[in-house]
Amino acid sequence: MTINAASCRVTLEGVTKVFDGNVVIDAIDLDIKAGSLTTLLGPSGCGKTTILRLIAGLEMANAGRIRIGEQDVTALSASHRDVAMVFQSYALFPHMTVEENVGYGLKVQKVAPAERRQRVDAALTDVGLAGFGGRYIDQMSGGQQQRVAVARALILEPKVMLFDEPLSNLDTKLRRSMREDIRRLQQSTGITSVYVTHDQSEALAVSDEVVVMSAGKIAQIGTPEELYRRPTSTFVATFMGDANILKGMAVGGGGAFSVEIDGYRLALSGVRPGVSVGPVNIAVRPESMRLLRPGTGEGLPAEVRSWAYVGSSNEYMVDHRGDEMFVVTPAGSEVFRPGEPVLVAIDPFGVAVI
Ligand code: ATP
Repeated sequence: MTINAASCRVTLEGVTKVFDGNVVIDAIDLDIKAGSLTTLLGPSGCGKTTILRLIAGLEMANAGRIRIGEQDVTALSASHRDVAMVFQSYALFPHMTVEENVGYGLKVQKVAPAERRQRVDAALTDVGLAGFGGRYIDQMSGGQQQRVAVARALILEPKVMLFDEPLSNLDTKLRRSMREDIRRLQQSTGITSVYVTHDQSEALAVSDEVVVMSAGKIAQIGTPEELYRRPTSTFVATFMGDANILKGMAVGGGGAFSVEIDGYRLALSGVRPGVSVGPVNIAVRPESMRLLRPGTGEGLPAEVRSWAYVGSSNEYMVDHRGDEMFVVTPAGSEVFRPGEPVLVAIDPFGVAVI
């Protein structure tokens, strides 16, 4: 699909939103890069949808500024912002056919019927619905309805596309293929897109950048890999997947840090700036831990509490001096039974100082 509008960055400066005396968005600064797909991720009620609605102009900020490209849109109504939103509920018109739904915005803009027809056909082809134009909405599956909603937004060639939990009404398998389709369309059009989800695997899969939110503030911004590998807080570490939080002691300096946990020393690379020697918490991904028989290597002494075979891997709970750790090892690796003593070896690659 060819989009004429140049990609626009979206910037929020000190944006605050208050509902009924409660500050739900707290002086947020955010720079969404032009042409990127940026995801707002966080637990229910943290303010993701409110940010989307503030960008759309469906809510007005109590303080701060919002810019789309160079234009200050803070005081503009939704219809003057050149953004399109795809809702969780699809929000399609049930009494209209698929092509009438998709072409509705162009009709409002008084685009001539011939051009409208051509653009509707192109948009339906883009979302994999060529030939479905004459159907009514209730003759379409949930996944197809969401494609219609995406086509209806795309056809307007907006400066910014906003997706509010677009896949949450679909089953797991469909979610996966739909999220890949959305990603493909976003990349081929280059439209700056902001995507809201509370599903971390969806966020990791579709995003250029992820903004993790907590209680109306930004907890951390980064690429999916940065957030997964270098969380800066326990909240982000545990929200972006499973993590074991261990207490250790950072030793060394000059960028060459090691962390000692109960005498077990791990040389770390890529420690984030600002970490200094002394007591630290570290987050360790369960798949970065291995179990060894005592005497066969180095690791933290522990005892297996439980073992579960889950097809693609083994999942263990192990006890290290009263602290439980969750360990995931590849299917086919040596199996340890509950009660067995083990050593927990840690791959420094999966360790983040938080
Ligand atoms: P979810 O994942 O559950 O949709 P969210 O992160 O998108 O959550 P928001 O919908 O942005 O959260 O809501 C943030 C907070 O603002 C919540 O406490 C919510 O109750 C409150 N809120 C949102 N809209 C309104 C409103 N119109 N009036 C009053 N409070 C509101």
